[in-house]
Amino acid sequence: MSKLPVWQAQPLQRALSALAEGQLGHATLITGPEQLGQSALARALAQRLLCTSAQGDAPACGTCRACLRTCVSEQRPSCSNAKASEPACGQCRACVDARASRHPDLRIVSLEINEKTDKLRTEIAVEQIRKLSEWLALTSQQGGAQVVIIEAADLLNRNAANALLKTLEEPAPGRYLFLATARPQRLPATIRSRCQHIAMRLPDHDAALDWLLAQGHSSERAAAALSAARGNPGVADHWLRDGTMETRKAVHSELLRISKGAMGPLELAALWAKDEQLPLRLVLAADFAALLSARLATGDAIAMPKADPQRLGQWFAQANACRELLSTTVRSDLALVPLLIAWREVFAQS
Ligand SMILES: [Zn+2]
Repeated sequence: MSKLPVWQAQPLQRALSALAEGQLGHATLITGPEQLGQSALARALAQRLLCTSAQGDAPACGTCRACLRTCVSEQRPSCSNAKASEPACGQCRACVDARASRHPDLRIVSLEINEKTDKLRTEIAVEQIRKLSEWLALTSQQGGAQVVIIEAADLLNRNAANALLKTLEEPAPGRYLFLATARPQRLPATIRSRCQHIAMRLPDHDAALDWLLAQGHSSERAAAALSAARGNPGVADHWLRDGTMETRKAVHSELLRISKGAMGPLELAALWAKDEQLPLRLVLAADFAALLSARLATGDAIAMPKADPQRLGQWFAQANACRELLSTTVRSDLALVPLLIAWREVFAQS
């Protein structure tokens, strides 16, 4: 088994101890900040439950036939969207296929490709849970455990959640369900209350930085990304690979130019409106307002025109509202102009 980062290894060990003591529940909710690897932890547990060699509180052996079939392929899927240097998109058919289980007693439920539109669905559909229940009603093929991982469990739609509830209400020996999510509050309370809970937490700064360096990032880039990602190494790693750090830098510089009067709101609105990554830009812009507001509140001097932290807070909300608005059919530039004029005014009036 490849070595897990410390923020996964510690909760894994606690779960393995629970398993050895017969205390691991039949349904477990694995939560934590986004990109920390909730699914990877679920996989490690699934691998241990199906491993034909490990005993007691030891992790999966990593070498038996069952282990080899449950481990995630080290190879990057032949993603049809991302360039070679970028992380796989996770949305195309090749990426979806790469997530599927290769062990007959492990099912991984995740977003599927909609056969009609050939696009990734936005929610887990009830048919997927019905198929799962049918499968769980069969006996295991290898005579051991039957394991289910539901990835991004918060994306279960209402009917799917109701169907899953029935499964959770009928525990059976040797059956284990792991629900992985970064947004447990979006799951019905009835589901949450029937699960044991494993909460992953952000590692301390040094452990996060060490891990980023081990991923091959330079120390300067790693430190900048970790700070931008508020200490979340998973998000930082992603941002370093998919170009978000560069986009973030551009957004900061463009907003600074507006605040200093070196660029006009109309000009920037036209520029952003053409960008496919506009929703990301708005997330980063809102985050920049929050960052400036926090720095002003702590008196942290930066080369910025003065602004009122409260007005920055209002603009943060306005940027998020604008992003919501843009998911409708409104014209991007029309939505952006008032937002960027408001940004200029945050600085002009102070
Ligand atoms: Zn094994």
